[in-house]
Amino acid sequence: MKIAIMGAGLSGLACALTLEKNGLTPTILDNRRCAGDRFVNGEILLPMLEESFSDPLIQLSEAYGIYLQPTNNITALTLHSENKTAQLTGQLGFINLRGRVENSFESQLARQLKTKILFNSPYDYTDILKEFTHIVLAVGDFRYTEEIQRVKSSLAVTLKGAIVAGNFNQREVAAWLDNTIAPKGYCYLIPLSGQEANITLAYPEYPEAQGLSQNKLWDKFFERVCKDTQQDLRVTDQFEIHQYRMGISAIPRIGNTFFVGNCLGTMMPALGFGQLPSMLSGIYAAQDLLGQSSYQKTAKSIYQSYNHSLTLRKFLESLDNAKLDTLIDLVGTPLANRLLNNRRISLLKIISRLLAPLFG
Ligand SMILES: Cc1cc2nc3c(=O)[nH]c(=O)nc-3n(C[C@H](O)[C@H](O)[C@H](O)COP(=O)(O)OP(=O)(O)OC[C@H]3O[C@@H](n4cnc5c(N)ncnc54)[C@H](O)[C@@H]3O)c2cc1C
Repeated sequence: MKIAIMGAGLSGLACALTLEKNGLTPTILDNRRCAGDRFVNGEILLPMLEESFSDPLIQLSEAYGIYLQPTNNITALTLHSENKTAQLTGQLGFINLRGRVENSFESQLARQLKTKILFNSPYDYTDILKEFTHIVLAVGDFRYTEEIQRVKSSLAVTLKGAIVAGNFNQREVAAWLDNTIAPKGYCYLIPLSGQEANITLAYPEYPEAQGLSQNKLWDKFFERVCKDTQQDLRVTDQFEIHQYRMGISAIPRIGNTFFVGNCLGTMMPALGFGQLPSMLSGIYAAQDLLGQSSYQKTAKSIYQSYNHSLTLRKFLESLDNAKLDTLIDLVGTPLANRLLNNRRISLLKIISRLLAPLFG
C-alpha cells in the first residue's frame, strides 16, 4: 500500500497520526512551507453544537491517542442581538489557536508525528494518482472536491477578521447575531490571551449581499464590539477570506481516494464549526485504510451532523432582527442555561429534529 495524504492540516494530520500509530507510514504532502503556515486566528470547540455531545479533547485522547492542548476553557458565552444580550455559563468548550504559531492545533499535531511532512509540494491530485495506490484528499478546500465528484453545495461565505489589542476575560467568548451587521451571518470575539482577541465578521455571499460594502459592515461591527466591550480596541493584524465554500460531497470515497475534512464537507453550515469533524474524518479514513472499519459507514455521522447544521442555518436565516431579539431573550433564561449545560443531550440534534419539518 502506498498512501499519500494531500494536505497537512487538521484532517490530514489526524489521519497520518492514526496510520502511524498502527504501523503504516503515509507520504504527507503540503503545498505550504510548514504546518499552519497561514494567518493566526482563534477558533473554538463547542460540544453543545457537536453531534456527539462529549468533551472533544477527552474523546480525541482516550479513543484515538491524539493530544491537543487548548489555550483556555470557555466558561461564558455572551450572545448579542441588535437590542438584547444573554449569557450562558458553565464548562462550555475550548478556545484554541490556528495558524503559524507554536501552539496552534496543526503545529501540535505535526509535533506528535514521526513521519516527515514534505512541504512546498507542487503536486496536484492527478500527479499523485499516478504514484500512489491510496490518496487521502485533505487540502481543506471544498472547491477541490467540486472538481472531482458530485457535491451538494450549500453556501459560500465571506470572512473578515482581525487580531485586536485590549483587555479580555480569557474564558469568555462573544457572538453577535444582527442582520444589520452580518446579514444572515454572525460575528464573534474569541480571546487569545488577556490582552489579545480575534474578532471576525462572517456572512454568506448570497445575491442580496452583493451590493453591500464589506468595509461598512466591518466598521459597524468594530464600533459595536468596542461599545459592548467598553474599550477602544486596536487592530494589530487582519485577514480576509472570500468564497469559503460549504457543502457536502456525494460520497466519502471514490475508488481509493478518501475525501476528508473540508474536502468531505466537515465545515458545518450553521456557524462554521469544522475542527472536530475534520479530525474525526481523518481518523475514520485511516481506520478504513487499516482494515478496521468502513469509511462509507463511519462518515455517515458527519453527513448527519452536516444536515442537522444546515437545518439550523435555514432556521437562523429565517429570523429578522426582532425575532433574533426574542431568541436571545429565550437563550438567557435559566432553563435554557440548564439545557445547554446538560451533557447528556446534543442541542444540535434536538434543535434540528424540532426544526426539520419546517426547515429540513
Ligand atoms: C476564519 C475561520 C474560523 C473558523 N472557526 C472555527 C471555529 O471556531 N471552530 C471550528 O470548529 N471550526 C472553525 N473553522 C473551521 C475549521 O478551521 C475547518 O473546518 C478545519 O480547519 C478544516 O480542516 P481541514 O483539514 O479540512 O483543512 P485545514 O486544516 O485548512 O488544512 C488544509 C491543509 O492543506 C494544505 N493544502 C492546501 N492546498 C494544498 C495542495 N494543493 N497540496 C497540498 N496541500 C495543500 C494547506 O496548506 C493546509 O495545511 C473556521 C474556519 C475559518 C476559515
